[in-house]
Amino acid sequence: MKIAVVGTGYVGLVAGACFAENGNEVICVDKEPAKVRLLQRGKIPIYEPGLDELVRRNKAEKRLTFTTALERGVRNAQIVFIAVGTPTGEDGSADLQHVLAVARDTAKAMNGYKVIVNKSTVPVGTAAKVREVVRRETTHPFSVVSNPEFLKQGAAIEDFMKPDRVVIGAEDPRASELMSELYAPFTRTGAPIMLMDCASAELCKYAANAMLATRISFMNEVANVCEAVGANVDQVRRAVAADRRIGPSFLFPGVGYGGSCFPKDVKAMLKFASAKEYKFEILESVEAVNERQKLRLLGKVQKHFGSLKGKRLAVWGLAFKPRTDDMREAPSVPLIRGFLDGGASVHAYDPEAMTVARTIFGSKISYAENSYAALTGADALVIVTEWNEFREPDFARMRKLMRTPAIFDGRNLYKPEQIRAHGFTYASIGRP
Ligand code: NAD
Repeated sequence: MKIAVVGTGYVGLVAGACFAENGNEVICVDKEPAKVRLLQRGKIPIYEPGLDELVRRNKAEKRLTFTTALERGVRNAQIVFIAVGTPTGEDGSADLQHVLAVARDTAKAMNGYKVIVNKSTVPVGTAAKVREVVRRETTHPFSVVSNPEFLKQGAAIEDFMKPDRVVIGAEDPRASELMSELYAPFTRTGAPIMLMDCASAELCKYAANAMLATRISFMNEVANVCEAVGANVDQVRRAVAADRRIGPSFLFPGVGYGGSCFPKDVKAMLKFASAKEYKFEILESVEAVNERQKLRLLGKVQKHFGSLKGKRLAVWGLAFKPRTDDMREAPSVPLIRGFLDGGASVHAYDPEAMTVARTIFGSKISYAENSYAALTGADALVIVTEWNEFREPDFARMRKLMRTPAIFDGRNLYKPEQIRAHGFTYASIGRP
């Protein structure tokens, strides 16, 4: 099939490359000329495992091309995906300006029937808004479809190629048939294609993210209670997760959720529920708990040292989660700001997010070449992101490098007894 994907970020680029991989002819459109130039040269502007190879291969086969010219993409395509950002607006709701701008420009460029697909995460009612905008600008026939994306950064290609489910909200059979045909190769393993109305499809994405955020905040609260009563969250979690009604995913306590999706989608869902006079109380608490949890390690470090003035802190992990360079809403940001405000100096290391970190902190912190270099002369190590390379470090080497051997582990990477045997003071989340 001939496809245009508008917006070449985490979702658009992965979707475009994966559609091309399955034999479709894909034009990826982005309004950022620098990004498009980079992609045209076969370079990937983001870090996502396996994406560079996928893009290079499909580009070489001429199934995947990049342009800033929306018109060229639209004219060539049967299906136009909108995969632009829907950031949090000033009042907390999803800002739809980019989605509606693309819808308008798509309509102006149309030269026949098109299926216009919302892949961005958008509040209920957006398909209707897009339909309205397009109708005003064109006399050509079209269908609007909601096709929310569930991929996870860090495993985006695997998620896209083998989704748990594909959700398609469509109001007419012509569009549902085209979409089902497009996704058929992705669902050979038996994953369902779920056809539904647009409003339900739009809500699916928010409900799923809200549920995942709820599990994280819930488990963080359980961990905090564990600390208060002297229980061990590792053991509690294992027992809870063994219940088949609950399962093990998203039950790890930590420093709170971040990223470009959970925080903004939780906010947006609260907003569109309250616009209909529904107070989503659980979700309000999920958000409040998360804000508090992001600063939990700061409290522990402050309590340990009394004052942070003049302390040298090593920070391992800056990205909001492993296998990405994304620092949007990363817990590392308020945490590091708290350390700096307290008068500490911060020496940070992340395997992929250093370039992004420089745009946030500039010269306020220093950037280490590797995890050990960050430790030189440190009064404590603070672990924020659970990159695999932090899981089995050389503790003896770490002790030699640090001024005082103290570790504040926001991801429970080590066994407390093991690390204390190495001579470290150790604090983690929800464990004695
Ligand atoms: P992103 O910010 O990485 O990428 C958006 C891209 O759209 C940018 O490259 C930007 O230049 C481009 N763009 C904006 N306006 C444009 C326009 N008018 N014309 C052409 N290009 C334009 O965003 P993302 O992380 O890929 O997210 C996109 C959407 O998908 C959001 O709604 C997000 O909530 C949703 N989503 C994201 C993820 C994720 O893990 N990142 C997962 C599922 C869903």
